[in-house]
Amino acid sequence: MNNYRSDAILRMDCKRICSMASIAILFFFIIFCQCPLYAQDFIDEPLFKVQIATSDPQSVHDELVSAGYDVLGIQWDLPAVEVAGPKQILKELEIRGYTIAAVERGRPLNEMLPKTKARDVPSNYSDLQNVYDKMIFAADQHPDITKFVDLTETYNTPETHGGRHLFALKISDHVNLDEDEPAMLVVGNHHAREIVTPVICLYAIDELTFQYGHDEEITQFVNEHEIWIAPVWNPDGYNHVFTVDNLWRKNRRIFTEGVGVDLNRNYPQGWSASCGGSTNVSSNTYKGPSPGSEAETETMMVWSQKERFVKIVDLHSSGQEVLYGYKCSFHPFTDWMKSRAEKFSMMCGYDGDHRQPSAEGEHVQWQFAQMGADAHLVETATSFQPPYSFALKEAEKVWPGIIWLAQSPVPLTGHVTDAANGNPVTAEIQILNVNFENGESNYSSAEFGRYHVFFPPGGYELRFSANGYLPSTHGVTIQHANAQVLDIELISHAIADNL
Ligand SMILES: [Zn+2]
Repeated sequence: MNNYRSDAILRMDCKRICSMASIAILFFFIIFCQCPLYAQDFIDEPLFKVQIATSDPQSVHDELVSAGYDVLGIQWDLPAVEVAGPKQILKELEIRGYTIAAVERGRPLNEMLPKTKARDVPSNYSDLQNVYDKMIFAADQHPDITKFVDLTETYNTPETHGGRHLFALKISDHVNLDEDEPAMLVVGNHHAREIVTPVICLYAIDELTFQYGHDEEITQFVNEHEIWIAPVWNPDGYNHVFTVDNLWRKNRRIFTEGVGVDLNRNYPQGWSASCGGSTNVSSNTYKGPSPGSEAETETMMVWSQKERFVKIVDLHSSGQEVLYGYKCSFHPFTDWMKSRAEKFSMMCGYDGDHRQPSAEGEHVQWQFAQMGADAHLVETATSFQPPYSFALKEAEKVWPGIIWLAQSPVPLTGHVTDAANGNPVTAEIQILNVNFENGESNYSSAEFGRYHVFFPPGGYELRFSANGYLPSTHGVTIQHANAQVLDIELISHAIADNL
């Protein structure tokens, strides 16, 4: 599946031959054996974790986050700031004047499994195949409400660089039908090393499937929604963590100057913002060559445009906090988002801890800005690879938060249809009396005309418009914690002209 290591060996051999040959032979090789000249540009080796000793860790932390470094956190007892990255990035830190001390070098998680020292006990975690096996097992055990779906195949999107597909488990009554029900997404592991997040996803699958038919609330929720759970959104990276480097974060796309795109910096919303991801391929926060450039990102976007998820939980680690809003761009509902992040955090047992994200170009930002979703990023756990028992406890802890989000009311929902024949209409939904500055948009779904709008309590003027139809404007008053339904029938120009 992943041929990169043999490719690398081939490149190194080519390099040696080429360097010893004459220029004529070199050109021969370039032309006829496609020998890449860039073999020496980078070494694809495991990452390092380093500590930067400082008397002012908070300032150094903030400075390095702003500069786009992969900052892992603060060790207050030392005090020191921890950063991960390849050698060349760490050298850059030294050039900036920081004194760094390597504390860990990435190694295969598989090799760490039998260890018994408390901080080194990730045994029982599922590797990639095992995650898929567990999803398939759930689908086999509960075929009426559960289906294992190959999203790459379904949406005809590109395979990952390593030749892998993306998979999700769908949970709903009449699971083989595409029903007109609100969809919810729980996704883990955009970042490869954050191995607690698939554990939480698998726990959610167990809860929903085993409680179905026994717990009234869960049964009703499954019956009335289409729930999608995707435990591993970065399969190449996740596999790399188990087989090569437990500190790996990005995907595994090979560039001439380095390896991997940070999948949570690759989404179009805020990709070009000053606080978007790094433009340096070697950086652990490299945002990719263009917005949505990665196969994983493309599949998520195509899938989301079809499903138009109402609610999204995007699981990361670590920090035990919920993130909200943009980093450096303006969003008119930031205060409301902040209060919801705080509530979500309370429900996850995280004491209400919440913060702004570290950057833009992140998955949930695209979802709330372009898909109108109630999307939240949850930083779970306190480290990337805690003992498995800790990960399971974390899953239990976060579960009430997921249920809280699932049950929280959608401020405004409804369907947009053609007034003459009742067919669904894909309409743009604009909030006319609110100032959006970053190209935010919202549409009703093509399949059912279903839409949703998330906004704080207040009075709004909404316009529904679609090609070939007269636009329709409506005033709505959103009450606190209230769900309103507003169905819209649009009149086509053809009909209007005859009225
Ligand atoms: Zn993450």
